[in-house]
Amino acid sequence: MSSAVAETFRESRHTPAERAQRTVAVSATADTRLGGVHRVRLNTAYVTSLENAGLVPIVVPPLRSSVAVRAIMEAVDGLLLTGGEDVDPKLYGQSPHEKLGPVNRTRDDTEIALVHAARALRKPILAICRGPQLLNVALGGTLIQDIPACVPDALPHNPEAERGVRTHEVSIEPDSRVANAIGATNVQVNSLHHQSVLEPAAELRVTARAPDGIIEALETRDEDWWVMAVQWHPEEMNDSPEPWDRGLFRAFADQLARG
Ligand code: MN
Repeated sequence: MSSAVAETFRESRHTPAERAQRTVAVSATADTRLGGVHRVRLNTAYVTSLENAGLVPIVVPPLRSSVAVRAIMEAVDGLLLTGGEDVDPKLYGQSPHEKLGPVNRTRDDTEIALVHAARALRKPILAICRGPQLLNVALGGTLIQDIPACVPDALPHNPEAERGVRTHEVSIEPDSRVANAIGATNVQVNSLHHQSVLEPAAELRVTARAPDGIIEALETRDEDWWVMAVQWHPEEMNDSPEPWDRGLFRAFADQLARG
């Protein structure tokens, strides 16, 4: 297609507002849940949340090539890191704890490469559940491999709970991106995790904790690189009576619109 034809094609199909829509790479997994066949898998709730915020999701499965990952990150406006498997503890210098869950090293490597490309390109990241853990490891931090085993006084963080049920409070730093996005500093969240951040990476700031001290949100200190990470599951709260979680996706969309 000649460039003039391509331009005519674009002009005929899209209004200026549609052309301004921002695209987001959404990390997915590949597993063998269905009859031994390897399939790319992503909970639809992530896609719905992005669409509700006016964003265009582009699903990215685990890939073998870091060159491909860089090409994807150059083509999109932002990155959503999603929930899933435990991060391989070798990536932060620990041996596997007996309570470590399944790991997916190809997914880890893909998402770490996505984070590094996003950092180099200064593209915004929203990170959810496994997302803050993966982000922290990608930037040099460490994880608690199993909260019940490693933090005896911890509250239940409910890895098997119903996904849309708010189960514990978080206390949010008032001058943070996450507080501004939610519009409150003490809210109940739907907590579904058995791992969490232990030592935050140097370039990350802790912005929320559960009452037991477990880290529940982080963001970058760098004003030029917008990153917001939450340990709970805002994508499961699309129909919640409280607007808090939708506010996180709106803040991400607002940041992408500025880019
Ligand atoms: Mn929690």
